[in-house]
Amino acid sequence: MLYQSTRGGDAGRSFEDVLLAGLAPDGGLYLPAEWPELSADDWRALRNRPWAEVARAVMEPYMGGFLGGEELAALIEEAAAEFGHPAVTPLEQLDGNLWLLELFHGPTLAFKDVAMQMLARLMDAALERRDAHVTIIGATSGDTGSAAIEAFRHSRRASIFILHPHGRVSEVQRRQMTTVDAPNVHNIAIEGDFDDCQALVKAMFNDAPFRERMKLAGVNSINWGRILAQIVYYATSALALGAPDRAVSFTVPTGNFGDIFAGYAAKRMGLPIKRLVIATNVNDILHRALTTGRYEVTGVTATTSPSMDIQVSSNFERLLFDMMERDAAGLKRLMDSLAQSGAFTIPEAALEAMRTLFDSGRTDEEAVIETIRRIYAETGELVDPHTAVGLHVAMEKASPEAAMISLATAHPAKFPDAVDRASGQRPALPQRLAHIMEAKEYLTVLPDDLEQVEAFIEGNAGA
Ligand SMILES: *Cc1c(COP(=O)(O)O)cnc(C)c1O
Repeated sequence: MLYQSTRGGDAGRSFEDVLLAGLAPDGGLYLPAEWPELSADDWRALRNRPWAEVARAVMEPYMGGFLGGEELAALIEEAAAEFGHPAVTPLEQLDGNLWLLELFHGPTLAFKDVAMQMLARLMDAALERRDAHVTIIGATSGDTGSAAIEAFRHSRRASIFILHPHGRVSEVQRRQMTTVDAPNVHNIAIEGDFDDCQALVKAMFNDAPFRERMKLAGVNSINWGRILAQIVYYATSALALGAPDRAVSFTVPTGNFGDIFAGYAAKRMGLPIKRLVIATNVNDILHRALTTGRYEVTGVTATTSPSMDIQVSSNFERLLFDMMERDAAGLKRLMDSLAQSGAFTIPEAALEAMRTLFDSGRTDEEAVIETIRRIYAETGELVDPHTAVGLHVAMEKASPEAAMISLATAHPAKFPDAVDRASGQRPALPQRLAHIMEAKEYLTVLPDDLEQVEAFIEGNAGA
């Protein structure tokens, strides 16, 4: 299995290459040259099998011999063991036709754990083979940083530096990052806001000598390894509800389009997925794009579902590429237009093709609160605001022709204030996380200054 860039400037890459590179050198995103398919019998044989076994069957065809058999099985078992539920990603029935796929049983209580736990171990295996080391840097407003730190704390081949805005992340989110005591983990609190942190990370990647010297690597949501790992739970949940002999639909709280793109990959692998419903909050660029055909950047509004507060949706490029029948030159024109004027029009044929599988809906803040309240009143379940964005849309789009699986992307205890306001119930942190509120914190406060941040990283990456 080889990989190509969506913008046509790179092809013939191995799985390890794309795992370690993240972004392609031409600015595009990597996709497999073709989609591997499992037969209906292959899928049937995976029904009622353990999560790790399904994961191996789904992931192995993408690896081109890099990892397989017992070695891959052991890696997946290790990642799965980090989850606080034996089913890893359990499925809960909410009513006759509506299901909740709980993706929040990982170490930092959000769905990003599923992919990060797998990505860290895959990267270690690739670096081991090459006898190489990398320095991972990232900026976080909360969620991604803690998932990355939890995943890479055991890495033998990566140092990780996560920048967060000093005093501007919630106490739980900060403690999830800063209480990790590992020699290769470094928390940097920047005297600035999240945009300053992001600008610093970008500047470091653009500093070519520094990038080379430190072997910088990124683990953001465009990394193909993350998307690959997310295909697994689309498979386990569809199989649990009767695939390949019965169709299912999914509703996905969406920001950067990484999670729902994994659902698209699952469909291409032969699972009978009827609809993939994009659920956005008021930052609704994707809902507008699918409705009107115009992909147009506007400002960002802060909401109670901050992990979906996005201006552009990076992984949407991957879907566009496939919907345009992999016309890299055509896609590059759209991306150039986006960079220059902040907008493009989706070609008519691509939009039609998209609409045969995808649907979309938008949830404003009032509906988020109302959904949390209503779900609690009707089922006794507390859901977080991201999950509520999905459920509001899922209930709108549910139809008797296929079961609707709505993705629960964060644990309610990660967003206690919004949940409390809506339901009158304050969700407690699961027992296995309670210790972070007392544990010692490790962090370094630095000014918003590129030179000082680079010097700190250079001085500490060897550890
Ligand atoms: C990242 C995130 C999302 C959005 O996922 P994308 O892959 O960016 O579309 C939704 N919910 C939560 C809780 C997240 O952390």
